[in-house]
Amino acid sequence: MNRRKFLGLMGAAGVSATLGKKAEAAGNVSFDGYPGSKGVLFDATRCIGCRKCEVGCNEINGLPAPEKPFDDLTVLDTERRTENEAYTVVNKYETGKGSVFRKIQCMHCLEPACASACFVSAFRKQPSGAVSYDESVCVGCRYCMVACPFEVPTYSYNDPITPKVIKCHLCEPHIQSGKVEVPGCVGKCPKEALVYGERSELIRIARRRIEAHPERYVDHIYGEREMGGTSWLYLSGVPFGELGMREDLGTHSGPELTSGALSVVPMVPALWPLLLAGVYGMTKRQHKIADNEKADAVAEAIATTQAEADTKLKAAMQRAQSDKEATVKREVEKARQEAIREAEEAARAAAEGDDNADNGEKEEEGA
Ligand code: SF4
Ligand code: SF4
Repeated sequence: MNRRKFLGLMGAAGVSATLGKKAEAAGNVSFDGYPGSKGVLFDATRCIGCRKCEVGCNEINGLPAPEKPFDDLTVLDTERRTENEAYTVVNKYETGKGSVFRKIQCMHCLEPACASACFVSAFRKQPSGAVSYDESVCVGCRYCMVACPFEVPTYSYNDPITPKVIKCHLCEPHIQSGKVEVPGCVGKCPKEALVYGERSELIRIARRRIEAHPERYVDHIYGEREMGGTSWLYLSGVPFGELGMREDLGTHSGPELTSGALSVVPMVPALWPLLLAGVYGMTKRQHKIADNEKADAVAEAIATTQAEADTKLKAAMQRAQSDKEATVKREVEKARQEAIREAEEAARAAAEGDDNADNGEKEEEGA
């Protein structure tokens, strides 16, 4: 189903049902693990923070050059997160054992929360191990951003009508096409801090390293069980919390936790009525909706969900302290302005249509 069809279905349905229930019903709720699937083992005791992995990712994906060149290691002084033009970043952490570096990217969860939250199934766990993303079906609701426990997906704001979520794809397209045999980041690492292979084998490698050098490693493979397991696995010489990694995630998979996570985060649900208002306005302008019943149903759904969203949005804005929340706030305002503009245009177009019809009738009467 492509985006156009999805939006068409939304219109055909009259958008009369509550969106929360639709989202829940259409979301993927459980994933089977894939035997033989691939992953990457990152060993923080080997990483020197050279950012070559960032270079590899940038090159293979044809991303624009960063603001500061890759050999400028002063960027490590500021904690960064992945973004539209950087699917992976390396950060430096001051720990009990001195400076330690950690690479950040999509963890390619075995049971991805992003996939379970996405009610158009734009995300899929592939047999290869990668969690893929299909922008052609994405409607830009950003449920995935809220659901991801690792705060990975980012959102391209370039075009509100063709939304695009950005994240690492484990180089699956490049490996499948034969362009490379291992992900771009792995191929560039000069210290073998990154190993690509079957996840089960990576776990064996990690265990052997811990057993061989218990003085070097924390006795834990991060990602083996966190969030039901991830395809990226981490070894470290210091507690993972010192590397900014969440140690409170538990072993439950994302889909088990997604509905709860979404219920306490109101920003994204708040976007829906605004998006729908925009869709409604566009549809009205283009087709001058003839079906009054459908228009009434849409207006009623918008009014109901808008009222709920406004209440939730106020609460959300009070808690908007992080960058992520501030970004969503900006987008909410942008979407609101867009929706208002669309509605005004639609109203103007409708009024002009009525005037033309009246004038036509008068001319006919005059004749
Ligand atoms: S890390 Fe986040 S974006 Fe990546 S697969 Fe897991 S839930 Fe999805
Ligand atoms: S290329 Fe390897 S050593 Fe360099 S920053 Fe990336 S993971 Fe660390």
